[in-house]
Amino acid sequence: MSQGILIVGHGLAGAILAHSLLESGENVRVIDSCSSHSATQVSAGLINPFIGPKLNMPKDFDRCMDANLSFYKMIERYAEQKFLRSIELFRVFQSATQKDRWDKLPGPYKNKTVSSEQCWDSGLFANYGAGVTKAWKFDSQGFINFSKKSLSSQNRFNETSFDPKRWTDHLVVFCEGFRVLENEWFNNLPFAPAQGDVLSIESSNDFHASNGTWHIPEGNNGLARVGSTWRHDNLESGPSPSARDEVLKRLQFIPSVQNALINLHLSGVRSGTKDRNPIIGRHPEIKNFFLFNGFGSRGCSTIPLAALEFTNFITRGTPLPQHKNLSRFM
Ligand SMILES: Cc1cc2nc3c(=O)[nH]c(=O)nc-3n(C[C@H](O)[C@H](O)[C@H](O)COP(=O)(O)OP(=O)(O)OC[C@H]3O[C@@H](n4cnc5c(N)ncnc54)[C@H](O)[C@@H]3O)c2cc1C
Repeated sequence: MSQGILIVGHGLAGAILAHSLLESGENVRVIDSCSSHSATQVSAGLINPFIGPKLNMPKDFDRCMDANLSFYKMIERYAEQKFLRSIELFRVFQSATQKDRWDKLPGPYKNKTVSSEQCWDSGLFANYGAGVTKAWKFDSQGFINFSKKSLSSQNRFNETSFDPKRWTDHLVVFCEGFRVLENEWFNNLPFAPAQGDVLSIESSNDFHASNGTWHIPEGNNGLARVGSTWRHDNLESGPSPSARDEVLKRLQFIPSVQNALINLHLSGVRSGTKDRNPIIGRHPEIKNFFLFNGFGSRGCSTIPLAALEFTNFITRGTPLPQHKNLSRFM
């Protein structure tokens, strides 16, 4: 491809797409306006096979994991730094029905079931016990810092906003997260952004646990990231005391965190969509404008596969999967 590619936005979507396109030999530039409330800056990086109260496994999860392992390994080799770790996650059951659902789940991601007594021995209050699942933790912020350094050293990265007059000779891929709402070419699409608060707390617990609200150790530094909340209005209102209280209340299954010291309180905005699928593809009229967005609350799981699909689309003309393709709304 002779035309250069400009990526607008260096959150997880823009950064992963940039490396995927570079890997296939494209000439890529990335700009980022460092705007506030980005999702990547607060992401806990959890990759969890069973989601929501029904413990549903997303239907393309295996394909996502293949793409994740391949992309993250490639980038780790290049960076000589580890970003993806496999973990065990205690999925704390909230009801007998949820435990029944777990018992019936097939698949390679279930490690074992533990009783409420065994949970208690680990410091978890779980009336119905817990399912221990295979999961992963991706160091989103570490990866973004590495990516920025690496792209800057190749003169491919600039901190600036998009100026349409400057890039007329480029293919432009917009990866602006929830700020797509301010993008006059794509803001008519059915996005459903949601703000979420996270806390970094002092915690001596070394387990990863979730009942929908999670506790994720940040490393071996005695800190854990806990969250999150959901709100669809006042997206840019920032962290709030009511959201902090809500997170701690939902973590009552970990008694020791109730009086934990709060080190940091942040919030960010997920760029969700009404049908919960990403929206990627070409603008119907402006042929050099593309969108790569809508990764909601599961960007760490889903972006590498979407980046591979998008790279094949843009470089070889391979059709995009219809459920992700922007054309489904035309
Ligand atoms: C509280 C919270 C917890 C989360 N936890 C997890 C988790 O555990 N696991 C998981 O898989 N996902 C999680 N997510 C979701 C995940 O963070 C997102 O799916 C992912 O980060 C989305 O990345 P993005 O690049 O699309 O958007 P963003 O991270 O929002 O990045 C957009 C970037 O575009 C830039 N930008 C915007 N407009 C312009 C412009 N006009 N010009 C130039 N630059 C621009 C911004 O500065 C920003 O850097 C979480 C999200 C939140 C909010």
